Amino acid sequence: MAQRDYYDVLGVSRDASDAEISKAYRKLAKKYHPDLNHEPGAEEKYKEVTEAYEVLHDPQKRSQYDQFGQAGMNGQGGFGAGQGYYGQGGFSGGDFSDIFSEFSDLFGGGGSRQRVDPTAPRRGQDLDYTLTIDFMDAMTGKKKQVSYTRKETCDVCGGNGCERGTHPITCDKCHGSGRMTITRQSMLGVVQQQTTCDKCHGRGVIIEHPCANCHGEGRIDRKNAIEVDVPAGIDNGQSLRYPGQGEAGVNGGEYGDLYITYRIRPSKDFERKGTTIYSHVTISFAQAALGDEIKVKTVHGDHDLKIPAGTQPEAKFTLRGEGVPYLRGNGNGDHQVTVDVAIPKKLNEGQKKALTDYVKASGDSISPQEKNFFERLRDKLS
Ligand SMILES: [Zn+2]
Ligand SMILES: [Zn+2]
Repeated sequence: MAQRDYYDVLGVSRDASDAEISKAYRKLAKKYHPDLNHEPGAEEKYKEVTEAYEVLHDPQKRSQYDQFGQAGMNGQGGFGAGQGYYGQGGFSGGDFSDIFSEFSDLFGGGGSRQRVDPTAPRRGQDLDYTLTIDFMDAMTGKKKQVSYTRKETCDVCGGNGCERGTHPITCDKCHGSGRMTITRQSMLGVVQQQTTCDKCHGRGVIIEHPCANCHGEGRIDRKNAIEVDVPAGIDNGQSLRYPGQGEAGVNGGEYGDLYITYRIRPSKDFERKGTTIYSHVTISFAQAALGDEIKVKTVHGDHDLKIPAGTQPEAKFTLRGEGVPYLRGNGNGDHQVTVDVAIPKKLNEGQKKALTDYVKASGDSISPQEKNFFERLRDKLS
């Protein structure tokens, strides 16, 4: 069944004001409301007037309808979310089948002539926020408050940029396309160039009575504060997406997203690679030689580590499951401890004697390399 013109359905003229449209709708809705009117066909009529009202009452949909007629409405949702409506500058009224063949051309890779209808809803921009956190917060996880300025939909005009009771009108210069063609004479002949409409500045609509709150932009700068998650195990440079926390869309488009990128301050105790933690622990040469039980600092607290007798400098020990918490799932990576053996810079008399005795006791059993070392040590001590 052919769709009737929405203006005809409501019995109003093409330049009817919003008040006239609302008044006409209220009258017809009362007349055909299924609760009040049980005649056959009344419900159909009611649906028809409601549909017409929903389009003509909404400034953006109305300008869409004025521009593309029913085709603009049917396009809603039909081309995939966020695609908007594609039309070509200069097209206005006429045979809608042309529009659709142009659509398929455009989607078939036509490119340069593709124009987004400036009055179609467009999603707001995504925002990036860098959150700097302490190393240990990235290990234990926590919540953090972040606040930033973003564009939000103007709450006075609801985003259409118009003073209450007024609505945007389709730009008469570009017929709502936001683009205009200028013709220039050049050395190569007449050149046609597409440029932004200078009357509506590309918006496709003209706002005669701008909203005082947003000055016609439909969006205003606002401070937005949200609580964000610092998940245990998050690594430097990783990002999380917070849907809808970006900027407000235009023409009723949805909000963009916020991307939190985590910067992690270095730790003086730990180094991290992936899910492994690296640290150093210093023991005395006596502990290295004789063995000992020591405490090692991990990101999960102090941990016992058994130093076997004869541990060499730079020896590495792995503490399983004492590293970085896995972002997804249970458990932790490992912690690798490197042992530094401290050589005392000063010795008291008793220590000197003990070491000299140690050299004597070692006799011939020491290696040539150690012999050199002990000779030098003996020279120093004597
Ligand atoms: Zn406003
Ligand atoms: Zn224009």
